[in-house]
Amino acid sequence: MHTKTLTEISRGLQAGDYSSQELTESYLKRIKQHTALNSFITVTEDLAIAQAKQADAMLAAGNAPVLTGVPIAHKDIFCTQGIKTSCGSKMLDNFIAPYNATVIEKFNQAGAISLGKLNMDEFAMGSSNETSFYGTVYNPWAENTVAGGSSGGSAAAVAARLISGATGTDTGGSIRQPAALCGITGLKPTYGRVSRFGMIAYASSLDQGGTMTQTAADSALMLQTMAGFDTKDSTSAEQDVPDYSANLNNSLQGLKIGLPKEFFDDSLNAEMATAIETAINEYKKMGAEIIEVSMPNLKLAIPAYYVIAPAECSANLSRMDGVRFGHRCDNPEDLNDLYIRSRGEGFGTEVKRRILVGTYALSAGYYDAYYIKAQKIRRLISNDFTEALKTVDVIMGPVTPTPAFGIGEKTKDPIEMYLADIYTIAVNLAGLPAMSVPAGFIDNKPIGLQIIGNYFDEAKLLNVAHQYQQVTDWHQQTPQGFE
Ligand code: GLN
Repeated sequence: MHTKTLTEISRGLQAGDYSSQELTESYLKRIKQHTALNSFITVTEDLAIAQAKQADAMLAAGNAPVLTGVPIAHKDIFCTQGIKTSCGSKMLDNFIAPYNATVIEKFNQAGAISLGKLNMDEFAMGSSNETSFYGTVYNPWAENTVAGGSSGGSAAAVAARLISGATGTDTGGSIRQPAALCGITGLKPTYGRVSRFGMIAYASSLDQGGTMTQTAADSALMLQTMAGFDTKDSTSAEQDVPDYSANLNNSLQGLKIGLPKEFFDDSLNAEMATAIETAINEYKKMGAEIIEVSMPNLKLAIPAYYVIAPAECSANLSRMDGVRFGHRCDNPEDLNDLYIRSRGEGFGTEVKRRILVGTYALSAGYYDAYYIKAQKIRRLISNDFTEALKTVDVIMGPVTPTPAFGIGEKTKDPIEMYLADIYTIAVNLAGLPAMSVPAGFIDNKPIGLQIIGNYFDEAKLLNVAHQYQQVTDWHQQTPQGFE
């Protein structure tokens, strides 16, 4: 059953071809067989079976929503009531969330089954899923290579067909980048499209929850459930949610695709350039028009992001103080000792680095020079996108500079790791929606095509991705050993 897409599973459940309980048990068995990937932090077996029984009753009664009985799992950044929510950190290793994130609530209401909580970089800080307190996530495609981060558990589990779909979050590329490296479809919606309530905050002005699935059609189904205004999130958008599945088959005749010349300069790896060109050619065959665009401020995205994101994280993570929840050191001498040792023991190296950088950038005397300047650059980058999207419908390019790299290869040099985000980060600074779609292989490792759209134009992105998946089969490939 694991070979089916989420869409096929949903259809089979609705048609009564199999029960949700059967399906759930078969996925749980697979998860146990493939623990070596380290994609799960917590498997909620009993809860999943109980949910499946309920789903079967809903299906038998008729009128069950489309995700009823479908087994998925969630990045461990989403609060799940009564279930450990660690955010990949020792700091929250003992944290049982007292409430559900809105996204979790919506999936529960839709009757979806949650098989558990997926591994991730600590507090979503990372590009390789090597910073998790629970260890590195392995890429099912190639031994000893990274799954990508920070939603690496989600990507590896979907690629290995341990679940039919997963949630992820993307602050600077954490849905698209692991999706690309694991050969699955990832969608980061427009900032504000999906509620952030109960999604543990890293950088609040950039974080956005989204979908990680085999296909664009699967993403449409998941996004339909996740999207929408939430009174509990003041940054969530008061915008109607269109029917994402309804437009998947629209023709791409006359679609205008922008290729930013800054993405395709000499620094782009030659094999990656060829693979992306091949993908673009498929779009030409479907009647799309290719237009070169220029976004001169793109090159400033990494430095601007790595000031803004740490600044926001230093403020957000101040709530982990050893007092109210999370890790507390033994026998503190006084309040200062409690703070210092609880935080010193609870956070890993990368998180500490970000807190230090962010606190520095926000401190009096440096605020104007770093934080304000980075915010000005952010505006320039947004403007570049807005200008480009006046002349084209979507923008395309690579997702990552290379396919999955070796475990440990970039961990010694943080700057080298940050450069893995070079094609994804600007999108978050602008708040735009974007997808990563499987687009081929380099050295037998998957790579992704990035499709960036205009604000709240997820339906167009899904249409553009779905049409590509009608003429290619990259998204159907399964890693060896996981067929
Ligand atoms: N790699 C980026 C970072 O470490 C993006 C992470 C993310 O999107 N959560 O900040």
